[in-house]
Amino acid sequence: MNEKRCYYCGTEEPWEDRTVEYLDSRKGAYLLVPDMPAKVCSKCGVIFYSGPALQGVEREFFAIQNGTILVDLHVDLPIADYASITAQNRNVTHDQLPVT
Ligand SMILES: [Zn+2]
Repeated sequence: MNEKRCYYCGTEEPWEDRTVEYLDSRKGAYLLVPDMPAKVCSKCGVIFYSGPALQGVEREFFAIQNGTILVDLHVDLPIADYASITAQNRNVTHDQLPVT
């Protein structure tokens, strides 16, 4: 990335090199990359992924879907649509929410 200025907030504060969780989806399937390299704006937090990193994930995802390679780990992912979340929240009191 050659641009010094954040394309979202315009700050010229330095981008931070970090790893972030990246969720890719394709045809109803998902691939979570827990250690995706990224540059993060130190002011607003907008995330920038490099082209090679995105292309690498795309190749990996394609190979996984073709069965060419195996993933490191499979997990069950709870899914709830927004309507059911708001309906459930009406019946949950603060006492029932986990303490964080
Ligand atoms: Zn920014």
